[in-house]
Amino acid sequence: MGTIQIIQGDITSLRVDAIVNAANSSLLGGGGVDGAIHRAAGPELLAECRTLGGCKTGDAKLTRGYRLPAKFVIHTVGPVYSGGNRGEAELLASCYRKSLLLASKQGLSSIAFPCISTGVYGYPFDAACRVALAALRETLPQTGLREVFLVCFGPSDFGAYRKIFAEG
Ligand code: ADP
Repeated sequence: MGTIQIIQGDITSLRVDAIVNAANSSLLGGGGVDGAIHRAAGPELLAECRTLGGCKTGDAKLTRGYRLPAKFVIHTVGPVYSGGNRGEAELLASCYRKSLLLASKQGLSSIAFPCISTGVYGYPFDAACRVALAALRETLPQTGLREVFLVCFGPSDFGAYRKIFAEG
């Protein structure tokens, strides 16, 4: 059975089988964690992304990690938050679920997620954490994954996420 751990740091520095990118639907790069991942992986990542034909919101696609310490990048597209009544929670849950299933299908054992949609896409942080944890706790037992890391960039996100995690 796989474990879930909340950690603080820069996701691009992690030596795991796959890191998840909070991408946009073009998969051609952007700001935030997406920009950081492309900068650290090098131009080969963008070249591979160009061959994928984009990605729908709630879906996930896999590439190699190139110059990253992680072997693979799973690109998923979170919902833009617009009040909460436009299926945002289901789409966000789908990002976590599909990323885990894709990693498992690839035979991977460790994966790290950023806090998808909680930056530029505006999803309220605590609500996004609850959606993420519910989706991961439900899907993880159906996979062969051993370690899931939830990566918080800043200390306040880290504190908030750990509190929500402890609520069970
Ligand atoms: P979105 O468009 O899905 O909201 P963002 O990249 O704007 O994506 O933000 C998603 C989350 O990623 C935010 O919580 C942000 O603080 C975090 N983040 C940004 N850079 C990094 C990084 N290098 N490592 C881990 N998390 C990061």
